[in-house]
Amino acid sequence: MLEELFRGRPVAASSPQGRFVSQAARINGQVLQEAFAWGKHLFLHFSDLYVHVHLGLYGDWRSSGGPNVRLALSSGSNSAYLSGPNTCELLDETGVRAVIGRLGPDPLRADPQGKERFCLAIKKKAVPIGKLVMDQKVVSGPGNIYRAECLFRVGISPFRKGQNVAVPRLERLWDDLACAMGQGLQSGIIDTLESKYKRAGADEVDTRFAVYHRTGRACPRCGTTVKETLMGGRRLFWCPGCQR
Ligand SMILES: [Zn+2]
Repeated sequence: MLEELFRGRPVAASSPQGRFVSQAARINGQVLQEAFAWGKHLFLHFSDLYVHVHLGLYGDWRSSGGPNVRLALSSGSNSAYLSGPNTCELLDETGVRAVIGRLGPDPLRADPQGKERFCLAIKKKAVPIGKLVMDQKVVSGPGNIYRAECLFRVGISPFRKGQNVAVPRLERLWDDLACAMGQGLQSGIIDTLESKYKRAGADEVDTRFAVYHRTGRACPRCGTTVKETLMGGRRLFWCPGCQR
């Protein structure tokens, strides 16, 4: 979206909230070379400087401003306003490489080593895989919905320790994350329920998800009641019947 709005154009930058004033001044008036994402990390490339943004749970890009805007960008009639990010910082190329170096592979990138790095990182850990899938050092990008739905789709219990999941199952999980996240990115809607389970007259969660937010309802695959617990501070949904 930011690419479409600003790429190749000089961009006016400011910080109405006041917390990014000197950094905004350094990119003000520069041309946006490109905007790219690595997992949930966004990088805006202006000549030799990059704005690195991680939205976190509360951050948001909007099309209208306000007093809490950390970074306001505009070019002609196009504007974007960032508020409440987890991270908003100015980096040079070395800094960008350092951030990316700390992150796990991103299933949405055509990185030939991505799947192998993902499997190795998980096989090293005696930690439940439901936690590892949300660890940005293991894999970049999946949020709470993809954690629940992709573990369900490949039939892995979120409680199984990473080191105890066979590599072919991890490879299937990586492929499924890439597939589901790719579809979500393309359509703008997360709809992870396989078409064979779609039923007419279902409500929104039953239309889009197999387990996510379906606590107490029947698993579409085996009929077992879907359960919910907290894992890594976030709500986790799973089917005890068909996730092993
Ligand atoms: Zn089931």
